[in-house]
Parts: sequence; structure tokens; C-alpha cells
Amino acid sequence: MLGLMQDWPLLCHRIIAHAAAIHGAQEVVTRSVEGPIVRTTYRQIHDRALQVSQVLTRDGIKLGDRVATIAWNTARHLEVWYGIMGIGAICHTVNPRLFPDQIAWIINHAQDRIVMTDITFVPILEKIADKLPSVERYVVLTERAHMPETHLKNAVAYEDWVAEADGDFRWKTFDENTAAAMCYTSGTTGDPKGVLYSHRSNVLHALMANTGDSLGANAADTMLPVVPLFHANSWGIAFSAPSMGTKLVFPGAKLDGASVYELLSTEKVTHTAGVPTVWLMLLQHMTANNLKLPHLRTVVCGGSAMPRSMIKAFLDMGVRPRHAWGMTEMSPIGTLAALKPPFAELAGEAGLDILQTQGYPPFGVEMKITDDAGKDLPWDGKTFGRLKVAGPAVAKAYYRVDADILDEDGFFDTGDVATIDAHGYMRITDRSKDVIKSGGEWISTIDLENLAVGHPAVAEAAVIGVYHPKWDERPLLIVQLKQGQNVSREEILKFMDGKIAKWWMPDDVAFVDGIPHTATGKILKTALREQFREYRFPNAAA
Ligand code: AMP
Repeated sequence: MLGLMQDWPLLCHRIIAHAAAIHGAQEVVTRSVEGPIVRTTYRQIHDRALQVSQVLTRDGIKLGDRVATIAWNTARHLEVWYGIMGIGAICHTVNPRLFPDQIAWIINHAQDRIVMTDITFVPILEKIADKLPSVERYVVLTERAHMPETHLKNAVAYEDWVAEADGDFRWKTFDENTAAAMCYTSGTTGDPKGVLYSHRSNVLHALMANTGDSLGANAADTMLPVVPLFHANSWGIAFSAPSMGTKLVFPGAKLDGASVYELLSTEKVTHTAGVPTVWLMLLQHMTANNLKLPHLRTVVCGGSAMPRSMIKAFLDMGVRPRHAWGMTEMSPIGTLAALKPPFAELAGEAGLDILQTQGYPPFGVEMKITDDAGKDLPWDGKTFGRLKVAGPAVAKAYYRVDADILDEDGFFDTGDVATIDAHGYMRITDRSKDVIKSGGEWISTIDLENLAVGHPAVAEAAVIGVYHPKWDERPLLIVQLKQGQNVSREEILKFMDGKIAKWWMPDDVAFVDGIPHTATGKILKTALREQFREYRFPNAAA
């Protein structure tokens, strides 16, 4: 027997329609790419998104067509985002930090028909435009006064283009499983892979993000997503914030510590989200200038492991750090480290131990750890295994890749190695390809990196496995020092000694001027392994 409830498809544009109807006057503030701070509201964003849909329809864009955005976090980006999805076209967010050739590859693979870009990225697109036959027009997200001279095909300033519509347009409904958005993973090996979100998966994911133990915001709060819209829907915030009526503050192109601090402070931001490097820059700026953020309550941090020292720094400021783990393939939320019973009152080092885990999943994410043969491993907080996930916002296939990516129970292998404890708290120890196997035992590079960045002179640390004649592999610690700091190999090792098992201690420390990162801000271990290919440990007798 079927239930007798309404058939109300879960469509992304219903979120902005709800925001306009119920939280219409709520502000969306942007540091515009052109410079000034621009204020708009959910109602205006909704109305302009309808205009975007109308012009796209006039330009021949139909259900299922791909429209790319290469843009910073701005209100205009949010308007085109909902305008594209509102007609069943697919909003393809392209990461501008990729190499131009990768951008070209991705646009060709997606067969994007229109590219919407900020002025910042016009020069990159001009370099690759002749390799992008599917693109019929470029819409530059600016007004005529700032429109650059460009030979991009049919280029038009966004404000001129959108003004061609009067807004007398209605969004249609369609099947909630229709594709809404796509995002390519920034894989360090092989071709990037397209993750194709559906309207249903995005709406359900927004509901997962909305709980107090998730992103933790509500209608009375102000959220500043430093995490870009092109990094897995800014971790769902582009859907979650309007669905709750949370005020949004967009940082545009300026993501340095001083600029982010200024917006957090002047807009009295209560919640913010970004990768550890962003918070490192913010904390350094605040310490150097003796600054405070009395309104800030929650800092969501993910994308890479949040160092213990950073968690402590936020707690000392009276800010709740919320360590999160996820991936593009998961829309992206997987787990978040909220303190739940019996840990709710834990403070000090014991509290840090929990806050430092990657957390537990909200309803809608199932997880398990298995051995290489696929056998389930115990949730004892000690046993490492391959982390696998399932849920309505987890990918079941990649776009235009004919390969089965789920196991026989329908779980997706994340490529991460993790432990899970009896309360469901998950702890990532490594990417499976980064884990170090020393004498047959695993060493967690993340744990070592985390510990090393706790040293006051260390800006960033990366650990890679290097060949060792006796143990197969041993850890090499690669360190970038903070500016003006000078500390020896011995001092760093002494700092780590006693805080981890003896046999986990790095065999050597190498100092570098900079640690390479991927386009989503993760340490690029493939480049480090290449850089240290010829390296041999001084103590490794053959
Ligand atoms: P992406 O799809 O670019 O978001 O990358 C997802 C991957 O980033 C995950 O599979 C993890 O390897 C890594 N990652 C994300 N969040 C964390 C975290 N909190 N701690 C450690 N690794 C993380």
C-alpha cells in the first residue's frame, strides 16, 4: 500500500523560493570582485535567478544542458546557480585553481554550452577558448563598466545579459532525480571524475547540513563560507543557508587572513567554514595584530585534517571548532565532530581528543570500515580499515565513466583509511595511497603531521613514506617553518618524542620553503614523493 501524501519533488530551486517567501528580507553580503561590498537579499536573488532562467531559456538552454561557472563566492554566483538549476539545466562549478589544460579537459568532458565567469578568470579562458568547441557563449559576471576587452565567443556582461529578461517566468517542476549540478574531483592521479548531483540529493544533503550538530547555524545566524561554491557546493552551504534563512556573507576573491577577518568582524559573522590553511592565515593575522572576534561562535574546518593546535586556538578564543570530513562524491558532508553524550561536558585534553576526530555522520550517511577483502572490521577506535559510505547524497557512478564504483552492499570506497569507535566517531588516519607501511605495520601520516604543526615554529608539515632497506618504508617529515623562525631537526623530533609510539617517530626531518597543494588546498603528496624520490635516510644501512 502506498502512502497518501503529496508528490512534492525535492527540487533545488524550491529552496531559494522558500528563502524569498519566508526570509525575503534576509541579507546576502558580498565583497564584490570589483571591490566594493554589495548588499542584496534572498528575495532579490530569487527574482534575478528567475531572470537568469528566462535568458538561458531564450538562449536555447534546456533540461539536461550543462552550464559552467568559474567564479568566486558572490551573490551573482548564487543567482546564476539557482537560475541554471531552475530550468533543469546542470550547474557545473569549475575550480579555477586547476591547471588551464585540466579546466579545458573538464569543460570538454562536461560539454558545457555556456560559461559564466568572473573577470578574474577571463585571461585563463582566453588561453584555452580555442580548445572549447562546445561553448557557445561566455557571460562575464560583471557590469558593462568593468567588462574587459575580450575575444571570448559572444561575450556579454552579466548585467546587460540578465537585463534582457523581465522576470516574468515560472520555474517548472520535474522529477527530483533530475541532475542539478556537477563538480569534478581534483584527483591527483588520472583524469578528473565528474560527480553529478541530483535535485533530490542536494535537497536531502541541505537537510543533513541544517542540524545543530552539523553546520550548526539557523535563521538568526550569519554564515561566511570561505569554502568555494566550486568545492562541493561550498559544503552544502549554498543550499543550507537559504533553506534556513541564514544571512550569507560571501568573501569574493579575497581569502587572505586580513580580508576574511575584516568581513567576519564587520558583518558580525557567527558561523564560518573553510579548509585549515584559511584558518591558519586568519589565526596568524589575529595573533600578530592582537584581534578578537566576539560574535564568532562556530568554525567548520575540513578538506584536510584540522590540527589539534588549531582546535585549541579556537577554543581559547571561545569559538567552537567543528572538524568535518567529507568528499565531493558525498555532496560533501560525511561526518562532523560535535560533542554528544557521553562526551558533551568533556573539557581539556579529553575534549580535544574527541574534537580532533573527524566526527560522526548525520542521519543520511552510513559508514563502515573493511579490510582489503571487504570484510567488516570492528568499531573499537583502534582497528584501521578502508572507509566506505552509503546514502542518498553519495555518488553511485561518475559522469560518463562506465565502471561500477560500489561494493556488493552498495557502499562507495572513499579511499580513506580510518578507525571508528563504539560511539560512531570516525578518525581518518590516511588516504589509502599515502599510508606508510613500516615493517608490515601502518603509520598514520596525518597523526604525525598534526603533531608536528603543534610546534610553535612550524607553519605546515607533511609526512611521506621513503624506502628503507630494513622496514620497507619509514616516515620522512617535511617541514615549512613560519616566517623568521629557525629551529633544528633535533628540536622538532624532541618536541614529538613521547607523544607517539617510538616506532612512529620520523627517521628524518627535511626543511622546505613551501609545501605544494592541490586545487582544493590539500597537501600534494605525489609532488613531494617526486621531489624526494632520490632521498635516502642517513641512518638506513643497506
Ligand atoms: P574532496 O573531494 O576534494 O573534498 O576531497 C575529499 C578527501 O579530502 C577525503 O577523501 C579525505 O581524504 C580528505 N579530507 C576531507 N576532510 C578531511 C578531514 N577532516 N581530515 C582528513 N582528511 C580529510
